[in-house]
Amino acid sequence: MSERTEPLVRDVMRRTLLKVRAEDSVKSVIKKMVSQHADIAFVVNSSGTPLGVITEHDLVYRVLAKLDSLSLDKVKAEDIMTSPVIAVSDQDTIVNAARVMGEYRVRRLGVRDETGALVGVVTADDIMQVFPDYFEYIATLGRARELAPRVTEAEEELLVGYCEECGEWSDRLREYNGRYLCEECYMEIAGFEEETGE
Ligand SMILES: [Zn+2]
Repeated sequence: MSERTEPLVRDVMRRTLLKVRAEDSVKSVIKKMVSQHADIAFVVNSSGTPLGVITEHDLVYRVLAKLDSLSLDKVKAEDIMTSPVIAVSDQDTIVNAARVMGEYRVRRLGVRDETGALVGVVTADDIMQVFPDYFEYIATLGRARELAPRVTEAEEELLVGYCEECGEWSDRLREYNGRYLCEECYMEIAGFEEETGE
């Protein structure tokens, strides 16, 4: 018997996850999602770094938006994916995972191990099935955020995910030219360009 009282992400996470490549056609992504009964696909690069996610919601809204001009063979995964990948540690508590879901208004999170590698997925439905007591808690998170006073302008919103430059996990991603970078890469790229100016 375990002594811990708080259930952890690893207790409910699914360890099978669908990974696709950025250059894969949306048509092939849809086929894989259907055949593997996956409601989320993680878009990764050649070294396995997560670049974004594609959910059923993305398929419906973003693919339909592009259907007029393009066929499904031509639209690539990277054209419709959502970035960056929001993920929690497999050692995180369920409560924290639920909090992150509420914070980012998502129902599915990637799960990383201690090395930062993407090893699973945890969904609000999974949590509520295993721990029904959390249902009310999770349901209130979205509302709580709406009701919460706005953070001050100066306070930057923290974004967690994988750096699109070095692929390292970061608790503090910063956006630069549409890419999400860890602080070191941000300083290297954005800092350098600011110094040299136009
Ligand atoms: Zn980086």
